[in-house]
Amino acid sequence: MKNHPADLQAFLEALHPAVPPPWGIGKVASYIPELAKVNPDLFSICLVTVDGQVFEVGDFQQLFTIQSISKVFVHGLALEDHGRDYLLTKVGVEPTGDAFNAIILDEHSKRPYNPMVNAGAIATTSLIQGQGPAERLNRLLSMFRRYIGHDVYLDGAVFVSERTSGHRNRAMAHLMLNFGMIDEPIEESLDLYFQQCSVMVTCRDLAVMAATLANHGVNPLTGERAIAGQYIKDILSVMYTCGMYNFAGEWAYQIGLPAKSGVCGGIIAIVPNLMGIGVFSPPLDQRGNSVRGVKVCQALSQEFELNLFDLL
Ligand code: GLN
Repeated sequence: MKNHPADLQAFLEALHPAVPPPWGIGKVASYIPELAKVNPDLFSICLVTVDGQVFEVGDFQQLFTIQSISKVFVHGLALEDHGRDYLLTKVGVEPTGDAFNAIILDEHSKRPYNPMVNAGAIATTSLIQGQGPAERLNRLLSMFRRYIGHDVYLDGAVFVSERTSGHRNRAMAHLMLNFGMIDEPIEESLDLYFQQCSVMVTCRDLAVMAATLANHGVNPLTGERAIAGQYIKDILSVMYTCGMYNFAGEWAYQIGLPAKSGVCGGIIAIVPNLMGIGVFSPPLDQRGNSVRGVKVCQALSQEFELNLFDLL
């Protein structure tokens, strides 16, 4: 990192007003009807360092649903439940170069491509262990609580909205069942997937979760371990190659950090051993990534030389 962390707050305060609102470029996600109600002007940036310093600007206390960013953490829980070798037989680690909701499966290896796109995430969620839907949900919520550092709740309206309109995700689950890629009960697993997407977080929560990954699995604010350290490398590698969907290559080239976006307008990025980045701004580009979120990460990466290969 080029500059000293003490510069971070000043940099954020100058950056926040300098990133223009994406009027005419970005659009708030509307295919889940409840998401269309969000205020498009909300905008926050938060950085949490591995030694527990917090830098934040904008609407950082605003709650929103985590959406696809949940996939990272559920992937981690599935790794803990089953180990890397078994999980690899069920979900690949290959980028698709396609949209997050593309209906494509690797029929040759009988797996969805990776845990960061919807098909792979539904398959990953279907592997979360527990006796019945309540225990499985409670395991997910406890896992999120460890990363975030306080209790977490679902947005019931977003959950119901997605559950009733999620025909595409439901179709993918049925296709995977047909190909023997996932097992029954798929309605229960779909519910769990819609529930994980409906977990409410703030921008600060996102940054703390990202910082926990940057800190090898230990939450830097609470000191609690959220996930066994042995799986961090697996999680970050898949985020690096697949986390930004069909923008993943360009993202790696321009920004050079493991990251994950969600249709809520959130993005997390991880600077290993240094800090977690959380950005929230709902308008999305055509690939489903927050327009302002991408710009903020570009600016941070350039200013502080955060690209993993800046080390060279
Ligand atoms: N809940 C959303 C869906 O499954 C998540 C997609 C996303 O955030 N990219 O469609």
